[in-house]
Parts: sequence; structure tokens; C-alpha cells
Amino acid sequence: MTTLVWFRNDLRLHDHQPLDEALRAGQPIIPLYCFDPRQFGQTAFGFPKTGAYRAQFLLESVADLRRSLQALGSDLVVRLGQPEDIIPELVKAHSVEAVYWHEEVTAEELRVEQAVETKLATMGCKTEVYWGATLYHPDNLPFAISRLPEVFTQFRKKVEQHSTVDVALPTPQKILPLPQVNPGTMPALTDFGLEAPNLDSRAVLTFEGGETAGLARLNHYVWEADCLKTYKQTRNGMVGADYSSKLSAWLAMGCLSPRRVYETVRDYEAERIRNDSTYWLVFELLWRDYFRFICAKHGNKVFYPSGLRGLLIDWKQDWQRFDAWRNGETGFPLVDANMRELSHSGFMSNRGRQNVASFLTKNLGIDWRMGAEWFESLLVDHDPCSNYGNWNYTAGVGNDARGFRYFNIPKQSKDYDPDGLYVKHWLPELTDVPAAKVHELWKLQPVEQKRFGVILGVDYPRPVVDLHKSVQANEAIYNAAREIG
Ligand SMILES: Cc1cc2nc3c(=O)[nH]c(=O)nc-3n(C[C@H](O)[C@H](O)[C@H](O)COP(=O)(O)OP(=O)(O)OC[C@H]3O[C@@H](n4cnc5c(N)ncnc54)[C@H](O)[C@@H]3O)c2cc1C
Repeated sequence: MTTLVWFRNDLRLHDHQPLDEALRAGQPIIPLYCFDPRQFGQTAFGFPKTGAYRAQFLLESVADLRRSLQALGSDLVVRLGQPEDIIPELVKAHSVEAVYWHEEVTAEELRVEQAVETKLATMGCKTEVYWGATLYHPDNLPFAISRLPEVFTQFRKKVEQHSTVDVALPTPQKILPLPQVNPGTMPALTDFGLEAPNLDSRAVLTFEGGETAGLARLNHYVWEADCLKTYKQTRNGMVGADYSSKLSAWLAMGCLSPRRVYETVRDYEAERIRNDSTYWLVFELLWRDYFRFICAKHGNKVFYPSGLRGLLIDWKQDWQRFDAWRNGETGFPLVDANMRELSHSGFMSNRGRQNVASFLTKNLGIDWRMGAEWFESLLVDHDPCSNYGNWNYTAGVGNDARGFRYFNIPKQSKDYDPDGLYVKHWLPELTDVPAAKVHELWKLQPVEQKRFGVILGVDYPRPVVDLHKSVQANEAIYNAAREIG
């Protein structure tokens, strides 16, 4: 009997239940990865669905998985095409009796797995589907997913009180050789119409895809650099590699399992120190879990303009202002620096994401889905649940929306970038502006603009909106929104 293990957003060998179960049978295994052309199409608003940063990270992750499987005596079969075509072909050609994979929760992924399942059922091929993307397994939650609390804090408290995290499964030591299957060649970025992304030396990190690099990053952050003990104090930073873990891309592509991260935190607590910071990293992983469970509970609602809450807001699709936002030309340095960081590196800090998302929706009043799709296109760590869940939350259409809340950009700038180091890092045209003035350039007198070498409207844009008036106007729109239940 041959089992096919279909790798998806789980590009690792550690803590991989479908692989573990297939190995238990002691029979030959065909490990497979399909590059699905649909993932390289366009989003609804016309952006590349998987931009060059994430595509490169994906290629590296698949290549790393292949190397790891080869080192264990097997290989990774790589195909370019739709899984619902490729898997049945392999099943037929190699008398595969069972196909195992990790399930997903969002629409596009579910459609693919349902199509695979339907075709395999007609062929009499067995399928086994496992849950593997979260820290807590749904079976260990103190409620059914259909009864998941709508407020994160309630979810967290109940889970922390009543649930346990399962032990991560070990990395296999040996795998039977691949049956007679052509392993296939790895595609290149150009096969997806993409060019190699620009590696900007200002980026926080070079994100190299794959389990090997993911485990190395975990080891560096926790053990070598010893950053975990101060995570809670540094996590809102924006400059440098180690203010936060930077594990998101590896977690999103499944190169790292959250249980492995959790066990590393527990080991660190036992060996070095246990404090608020060590707790806080696990707390953040709970946010990640929460968005995935919420998506599993509410299905496609997270993608609707009215969001999880069902709030019909009169969003604008103003492309001129949207372009100013995405190109980092709004005239608000904190927003612009973050948006340029995203375009030049595929990454943005959590503080930055909250601010730019608030600015887009609460100051510009622009359809949050345009922002979410732009993030989807560019982020190296894009995960549909975390991205769309967080955008729902920031736009005020999330399940636990608490009225019209917004980020005060100048205050955020002064609180989180008091010396202006971050904005100057990404906006070199502001180098000579004193820190005390760099976040509110619109207040500079013409003589100061000249002295600091930044003439508004020439060297740096004038503000696209009045912060106060725009918030008031968008609050009125928000308050006029109709709830559709
Ligand atoms: C508008 C918006 C969009 C976002 N889109 C994504 C996305 O597509 N993919 C993604 O992984 N995260 C997303 N986030 C959450 C968060 O910004 C990133 O996870 C974080 O910045 C990644 O950096 P890190 O790994 O250093 O995080 P750390 O601070 O070190 O956190 C550790 C891990 O916890 C998880 N985590 C932390 N905060 C959140 C959160 N708010 N929601 C869900 N998980 C979280 C991540 O897996 C992260 O790697 C988004 C946040 C906002 C406000």
C-alpha cells in the first residue's frame, strides 16, 4: 500500500501528523507539493495574489523540504498545477491507497481540498485529514468551534484555564525511498511571472524560507540572542531584527509548528527565566489561534466588506488616496515609512500594521479589503486568518468591534518612535529634520523646510487629509452604518 502525503501550508517535517500517520503504516510514501497557479493570479482589486517576497519564501521552503526528505532517504514530488488534477493522476498511476493532508479553514483552500476529496472518493481512495496549524487542537478546546467566544479575552481565559497543548510530534529519522515517481523540477519565480524581489539592506531581516531557517531563527531569538526574556518590553518596536520574534512567516507557511515554538518557550522558562515576556509570546500565539478558529466558525464572513460583525459601512474606493497610502506618500511619516518598509521588504511590524490599517480605514475611509489585499500581495507572512481577521478588527467590522476606535498617528509616532529613528530609516529625505519636528512636518515654517532640506510638496508630500476632520467624518459614516446581523 502506498500513501500520498500532500504538503500545503505545513512545509516541515517536525510535528507533522499526516506524515507521522503515514509512516506508522510502514509502507512507501509519496510526499507531494503542488504549486497551484491560482495562488499566483490576481486579487479582486488587481494585485498579484502572491507577490515576489512570499513567492520566493515559498520556493525556498519547498526546496528546503525536498532537501530534508532527501536526507532521510525519500524525496519531494513537485508539480505545477491544480491539486485536484495532480493528486488523482498520481493516485491512479501509482496505485495509491490513501491520501493524507492538513486541513485549512478558509474558502479558497477549502474549495481545493473538497475538489480533491470528491475526485478521490469516486476512485475509492481513502483520505485522512488532520488539524495542524494551531497551538491548541480543537479537540482540546473547552467549547466546540461553533460556540467559540466572540471576544478574544474570553476565549483566552477559558483556554488558559481548561485546555492543554499537545506534545509536538518528533521529526522522522528515516523514510522509505520514494516509489518510482518522477520527482519533478522546482519552478522558478519567472514561471509565475515574477522577478526576484529587491533585497533592501534596510530590511529587518532576510527572511529565508524553510524549516531549517525557521528553526534557526527560533534558536537565535530565544537562545543565542536571549531576547525572549525582554519580548514584552521590546515587541512594539519597529527598528531591527530582534524587537520581536519575526517567526510569523515560518509559522504562516507551516515551516514551524506553533507547538514547537511553545515547547521552546517552556524549555527556556525551565532553563533560564520565566516572566511576563515568556508568557507574552505564547499570548500572541493565542491571537493567531483565535483568528483561525474564528474563521473556522464564521466561514466566508471574514472576507465580506461588512466583516464578521455584518456592518454595512459606506467605504470609499478612492484609488488616488489609496495609491498615496500604498506608495508611502500620505504626508504622515509614520504611515509612509511603514508602507515603504512593506514595499521594500515584504514585512512590517505589528505596531506599523495597526497604524497604517487604522489610517486607511479611519482617516481615509477606504474599503479595508483594498488594504487587506495589498497586505496579502506583499506580506512575506500572509496568512488569510491573521490578515483578514486583523483587518476586520482594525476596520471596526470584527466580531468584537467596540465602536469607532482609531490610532492617533502623531501620538503613536511620538510614543513608539520618539527619536524619529524609524521614520528616518525608511524616509531618508527626512534625515536632517530634528526628532521633535519629524512627525509633524506640516507644522514646519517655510524657512525651517529650507533649513532641513525638506520642502513640502517637493521633497516630501503634504498631508493628504486633515487628521482631526477626517476622523470626525469617518466616525459619522461608521455610526450611520447598518448592521445586517
Ligand atoms: C492589519 C494587520 C494584518 C496582519 N496580517 C498578518 C498576517 O497576514 N500574518 C501574520 O502572521 N500576522 C499578521 N498580523 C499580526 C502581526 O502583525 C504579525 O503576526 C507580527 O507583526 C509578526 O511579527 P513577529 O513574528 O515578530 O511577531 P511577534 O510579536 O514575535 O509574535 C509572535 C507570533 O505571534 C503571532 N501573532 C502576533 N500578533 C498577532 C496578531 N495580532 N494576530 C495573529 N497572530 C499574531 C504571529 O504568528 C507571530 O509570529 C497582522 C496584524 C495587523 C494589524
